[in-house]
Amino acid sequence: PVRVRFAPSPTGPLHIGGVRTALFNYLFAKKHGGTFYLRVEDTDQNRFVPGAEQYIMEALEWLGIAPDETVGKNEKFGPYRQSERKPLYKQYADELINSGWAYYAFDSADDLDQLRKNAEETGNTFIYNHTVREHLDNSLTNSTEKVAERITNGEEYVIRFKTPVNETLHLKDIIRGDIKFDTNLLDDKVLFKSDGMPTYHLANIVDDHLMETSHVIRGEEWLPSMPLHELLYKAFGWEAPQFAHLPLILKPVGNGKLSKRDGDKLGFPVFPLDWNDPISGEKSSGYREKGFFPEAVVNFLSLLGWNDGTDQELFSLEELVAKFDLNRVHKAGAKFDPEKNKWFNQHYLKLQSDASLAEAFMPILSEKGIVTDMEYVTKVVALVKERATFVTDLYELSDFFFVAPTAYDEKASKNWKEETPGLMQELISVLENIGDFTSVNIETIVKDWMTKNEIGMGKVMQPFRLSLVGALKGPHLFDIVEMIRKDETIKRLQQAIA
Ligand code: GLU
Repeated sequence: PVRVRFAPSPTGPLHIGGVRTALFNYLFAKKHGGTFYLRVEDTDQNRFVPGAEQYIMEALEWLGIAPDETVGKNEKFGPYRQSERKPLYKQYADELINSGWAYYAFDSADDLDQLRKNAEETGNTFIYNHTVREHLDNSLTNSTEKVAERITNGEEYVIRFKTPVNETLHLKDIIRGDIKFDTNLLDDKVLFKSDGMPTYHLANIVDDHLMETSHVIRGEEWLPSMPLHELLYKAFGWEAPQFAHLPLILKPVGNGKLSKRDGDKLGFPVFPLDWNDPISGEKSSGYREKGFFPEAVVNFLSLLGWNDGTDQELFSLEELVAKFDLNRVHKAGAKFDPEKNKWFNQHYLKLQSDASLAEAFMPILSEKGIVTDMEYVTKVVALVKERATFVTDLYELSDFFFVAPTAYDEKASKNWKEETPGLMQELISVLENIGDFTSVNIETIVKDWMTKNEIGMGKVMQPFRLSLVGALKGPHLFDIVEMIRKDETIKRLQQAIA
């Protein structure tokens, strides 16, 4: 059965790249009737940030892609926090020692510095590999008894992986195909430290195995770890999951990887939710608070590295589940396009019901001290939503439905001629006599009056709009008139004349 995971380290808020990884795992799991679980990789206590785990969970929930299993939810393979699995890992490190796949290394920081210096002097980059381990008396060349003695004496040690020499690995990645890898390029990674904590590599492999992970779908930045991970599975005699490394997300211009700084520069979030870093105090804006709909975020993220083979760009989550295919994920980096993201939001805004948009708009109106009711706001929303990208745009598009203009657009005021006040006065009389004050009826009567008196359209309509709205913008004028009612319409015309 398909079991996939999202395995973030709670070192801060979830970046857009992390969310994309979570989404693709979610889609793959649902497509195959499998399970999507979330594992918290918090073995590195130095990088732990309070609140980050909660943030990640909340972000996935907001997006509608919550995991099936995680901390506090269907804990079938729990615990799901690696820090709570700590006692488990040592036996696996021991197992590799016993089978000869790993060794104790007692190198001091000074030893390592010296090695680094030596390498630099000969113009090489230092890697801790077989040449080091074979020549250092303080690593695996020690006898078992001597190692035991040093450990009992409280000497600091690490357990390192014993990378095979001169082997070519034949790796397979669902997205990248066959990859050949020379083991001589690998270093002997640390798997376990004397503080009793495993490193990422050991904990990740042990947990993916114990939690019966079928596929590892993660970002391209983890591709360099794949050879070691495959070797670890081999060392344990476990069947490895299948791997799929997702393409990088690139900044809109140039070829670099998208960073938080790019987001800041563009005035665009790279986080799903607002984040107030409890340590640095730094604030970052999120999609949710910027007014993005989760459906829009899911939709544009789904296209960062994937498409369904057609030109279709709009997909609901259900549709994505039905169509998602790892074989259609690209190798090449995917450009992040803030403008396109807005386009998606505009689309999903239009799909919202007027009532739910009105509900979201209400608090914005209250904040401005506007007292109104849901029914009225719902009608306003119906008239202006075509032009909005965010709920927060609604006020600017509709303020005249709630308050009389306090200023008139200067450029538009050139339509205000000498004869205009007189015409507006006549218009007031016409309006006063209308009984059935509905858009169509008002329009018919006003137009009849203009025709009968041979008054040009522009002479009335533009000043009329300017008086009600303060600018030459907004929906159909007679819809506005019907909405704000007769008294308010006349009041605004009188104010404009005065
Ligand atoms: N904890 C790793 C991370 O922060 C997980 C990488 C993986 O999926 O193996 O992304």
